[in-house]
Amino acid sequence: MIQDLHSHSYYSFCGKDNPEELVKAAINGGIEVFGITDHNNGIGFGRRDARAASEDIIPNQYDEYILHRYFDHLTLLKEKYSDKIDLKRGIEVATNRNNIRIPKTTLPDSADISFFDYCLIEHLDYESTTTNGDIFSYAKRCGTEYVGIAHTNLFAFIESKGLDPLDYFKKMADQNIFWEMNVSYDSTHHYREHKYMLDFFENEKQQEIVRKSGVRLSIGFDGHRVEDYLPDRIKTYCKRITDCGIKMVFEN
Ligand SMILES: [Zn+2]
Ligand SMILES: [Zn+2]
Repeated sequence: MIQDLHSHSYYSFCGKDNPEELVKAAINGGIEVFGITDHNNGIGFGRRDARAASEDIIPNQYDEYILHRYFDHLTLLKEKYSDKIDLKRGIEVATNRNNIRIPKTTLPDSADISFFDYCLIEHLDYESTTTNGDIFSYAKRCGTEYVGIAHTNLFAFIESKGLDPLDYFKKMADQNIFWEMNVSYDSTHHYREHKYMLDFFENEKQQEIVRKSGVRLSIGFDGHRVEDYLPDRIKTYCKRITDCGIKMVFEN
């Protein structure tokens, strides 16, 4: 399976393009399953310039209309391109209470995101995370059928908690929680790569634990501008997961 489950459109502060441009780029790049995962705070605030223009726009004043408007936009695209690509409607959830650059970005407790196809959770390993480092409870709070742990060196995180990685991954598998292999390589993030991802593909012991546990992995380019998109990079890493005998999310 060729999948990319992490991308940003103009609904995120850091994204630039209309979601439809992302979908077209994915189709042209040969992606089969594609997920759009704009940041909860970007969806909630609207555009950065709108926020800057008025002090009255209160961060995190989510209501059902804001989240549903984004979701409905993705649904229209999902239907329009259903014969060309399987579009998944996602959201990336910020859980860092102490984000200095963009304050008050975390998902409010009252916000319902359970209707999304999946969500990605970031900052699980931060001290200031609203998840309190407990992905199992937080996944239930999110309520989506699938929940991904994004940007995280999970082996280091599990070790820091003194837990057994195989047990932890098995528990994740039971709850449809997957682990993202972030293969980001774009100008927005200065062509930075995620070391945990590079390490995983070199570490047979880690691969063996993941394979045994039955946990699913995902590939995400974490794109922010279509001109930076590298579908061949996606394909390379999807193949590497398959070659490891590990299944990806949404794979039969
Ligand atoms: Zn992120
Ligand atoms: Zn992202």
